[in-house]
Amino acid sequence: MRMMTREDCVRLDTSDPLAEYRSQFELPDGVIYLDGNSLGPVTRSARRLINQRLGEWQQDLIASWRRHDWLEYPAKLGAMLAPVLGAKANEITVVDSTSINLFKLAAAVVAQGAESDRDNHRRRIVTEQGNFPTVPYMLEGLARIAHDVQLDVVPRERLLAEVDETTALVVLTHAHYLSAELFDLREMTAAVQARGARILWDLSHSAGVMPLHLSQSRVDYAVGCGYKYLNGGPGAPAYLYVREDLQPTLPAVLSGWLGAADPFAFADVYTPAAGLDRFRCGTPPVLAYAALEGALALYQSLNLSEARAKSQQLSTLLIDLLQPAVSAGTLQLASPQSAVARGGHVSLRYPYAQRLIAELADEGVVGDYRPPDVLRFGLSPLYLRYVDVWDAAQRILQKVRR
Ligand SMILES: *Cc1c(COP(=O)(O)O)cnc(C)c1O
Repeated sequence: MRMMTREDCVRLDTSDPLAEYRSQFELPDGVIYLDGNSLGPVTRSARRLINQRLGEWQQDLIASWRRHDWLEYPAKLGAMLAPVLGAKANEITVVDSTSINLFKLAAAVVAQGAESDRDNHRRRIVTEQGNFPTVPYMLEGLARIAHDVQLDVVPRERLLAEVDETTALVVLTHAHYLSAELFDLREMTAAVQARGARILWDLSHSAGVMPLHLSQSRVDYAVGCGYKYLNGGPGAPAYLYVREDLQPTLPAVLSGWLGAADPFAFADVYTPAAGLDRFRCGTPPVLAYAALEGALALYQSLNLSEARAKSQQLSTLLIDLLQPAVSAGTLQLASPQSAVARGGHVSLRYPYAQRLIAELADEGVVGDYRPPDVLRFGLSPLYLRYVDVWDAAQRILQKVRR
């Protein structure tokens, strides 16, 4: 195959159906940002909405909670995420952080199982070894207070073998944070359910960069981040999905006052709100929601199949351009070679990865380093151009050749 030239990339940018999205972002001058899978950049609409909320706060003070529907933010942004996750509007709420949502859902499954005649022998939770650590960390904490719950953290190839009649829940990350390797979400969901267990997906590294079909795939539960490919801002509120038919009986274990049926009745005894509103704990951080709302506005018109296609082309382009260094044995591809099996980022191993990432950043090419030797490059299709990938690849090649 002929190596792509910079002119080829310019041509691809000219015919890119997503090219106009770049102007919706406030990217710093002279920076090629290949780290949007860790923290997406500022959107123009986020700045506008934060300013609007500030104005409401300034003018209407406490009346804003009702006058400007601030309390409706979790459900409102859940509905905006529905097309992104392929779910119904009432199946998603936007609250808290990914870690906390993970705990809330796993704890709900554990609490519900203990009270169920059908499922009370299922007291094991299975998750994958070597994946993003908040998953096993949060589950470890849960097992500490739920004494009969056993947590098994096992390698990917043993996952399904570990799911049996004692398993309550399997918690998996759709796109691996290091390798970007994807699970087949529909297949894995069906396989876990066929063994009588429930599945909880962490979508932090896939939502916003590829179409998802949670309803169609009959996914039980899911959580994920607002600040990565969704560009919702540092520490953006996270989301939580529960399939509609599972909602009525799922208890909220972190039963905060705003998740109660009537928070402003200030009753002594907790009665859960209907549906996913019960998974709200406390007062929503309105300015953080405003940033996420601004970012999600972009997704209302986005064709996620086009986004996925471009993301795959960008990551394939980067891999192809770095091929000389991979063939020479200088770099080692740590992501699947096949674009279908790969999420939105590309990882490579390099003995001096940390230094290389620092040197690249000095020249305006921002990627990230993960120990011990991983270079990770996120390829968001919304604001990156093919020429950006070409220019970044040349810089990387120059540095690793020395
Ligand atoms: C980034 C990430 C998180 C982040 O969790 P927070 O609680 O929002 O910090 C969780 N899970 C995965 C798989 C991630 O990649």
